[in-house]
Amino acid sequence: MSTVRVRFAPSPTGYLHVGGLRTALYNYLFARRSGGTFILRVEDTDRSRFVEGAVENLIRTLEWAGLRFDEGPGKGGASGPYIQSERLEIYRAHAAALVASGNAYYAFDTAEELEAMRKRQEKLQVPVREYRRALEIPEEEVKRRLSAGVPAVVRLKIPAGETVAFEDIVRGRVEFSSDGIDDQVLLKSDGYPTYHLANVVDDHLMGITHVIRGEEWLPSTPKHVLLYRYFGWEIPLFAHLPLLLNPDRSKLSKRQGDVAVEEYRNRGFSPEALVNFVALLGWNPGDEREIFTLEELEKEFTLERVGKSGAVFNVEKLNWMNTEHFRRAPVASLLELMRPAVAAAGITGVEDSYLLDVIRLLKERVERPGDFVSTGMYFFRDPVAYDEQAKKKHWKPETADHLRRALARFRDLGSWLPADIESVVRAAAQSSGVGAGTLIHPLRLSLTGVALGPGLFDLMAVLGKETCLRRIESALTALG
Ligand code: GLU
Repeated sequence: MSTVRVRFAPSPTGYLHVGGLRTALYNYLFARRSGGTFILRVEDTDRSRFVEGAVENLIRTLEWAGLRFDEGPGKGGASGPYIQSERLEIYRAHAAALVASGNAYYAFDTAEELEAMRKRQEKLQVPVREYRRALEIPEEEVKRRLSAGVPAVVRLKIPAGETVAFEDIVRGRVEFSSDGIDDQVLLKSDGYPTYHLANVVDDHLMGITHVIRGEEWLPSTPKHVLLYRYFGWEIPLFAHLPLLLNPDRSKLSKRQGDVAVEEYRNRGFSPEALVNFVALLGWNPGDEREIFTLEELEKEFTLERVGKSGAVFNVEKLNWMNTEHFRRAPVASLLELMRPAVAAAGITGVEDSYLLDVIRLLKERVERPGDFVSTGMYFFRDPVAYDEQAKKKHWKPETADHLRRALARFRDLGSWLPADIESVVRAAAQSSGVGAGTLIHPLRLSLTGVALGPGLFDLMAVLGKETCLRRIESALTALG
């Protein structure tokens, strides 16, 4: 059995960033591929950023994307709880242990003092570590202050003049000089841990073997490496994923487009397409293939094929993939995607069998589920207007006569199958002395209000006789 254990450890912000989806996906795929365990851990120790309902939303969005976790909130597991705000005692105990072993210390600087330090540091461009003066406070005095409730933080003691190095699966050997690293706060004065402490403690206690996360966490990693060393724990393997970039190669930002997965979901992108798209932001299969299902990715994904250079988030490509997945989707699965769009348009009481007919006819003509309704509104409502250009082109003085003749034949038609409808149209055209096209275009306009759509005979068969007759009559009146 594989011992691979990986985690997606988002800080809940109220929405899932597409970069977060990629991190979650790569962790998920790596776990599936290696028969390992995929864990969801919620890193919510920054209380100033607390958002009501964020965790529930996160889980819903991951579920939508098809990324099922094996352990996590609501799911359980032997390493829980999986929400950091429910593990505060664990972090406090570990911070105290680091102080006891001499690798961390209590500091009592006030907000004003820290601000002044920050300014001096900014000027000098090197960590001044003035908070180190706390190391000179006698132990007795530290104890006295702590028991008197003087606000204190716990800081990590960063060694001087050391190269902190680690192996990264994506980037190879990575080195940082310890002289460039601040004595990181591990425990804040409100008793909450910072990301660094909670993250390392949990990764260890949860048995995480591979830390797969965004490149923005790379500068934090030397601090983590030191924490592992001080605790005497084995260091997991790291894989830092390349940055996501805007088309102009700046860091992916809200300003140049949507970054929330929920936003793409609302805009009608399918989970298959979005997952496929983010899978290729930093990973490639080694050949030209671009369309993958989640199942296929589970078989193919390796961290070795993750690149170092930034990946451009190209919405046009996402659109293309959405269409590709859409075209490949079985009609029955599109029904589920279409239902909400039908409901949102206020259309009620439509049978599944009717919707399936609509999907069958429109599938080649639309790119996303919502378009079934917007493009094919005429399947649900009689047209209220007729396309002006089509009118000019197809509605001639003699057209009304042609339509009336066809209408009479339609009334007499017993069976309403496409082939029967077609014979009637052809016979009616012939009796009017025109080609079938001369009748087909105005018929389509009368029935749908627009110039383009699926084959007329299929369309009429789906609409049904009664609807067709009513619409042709209305068109004759409306068009004069
Ligand atoms: N909580 C961090 C985040 O929001 C986790 C980073 C990590 O995976 O270590 O991305």
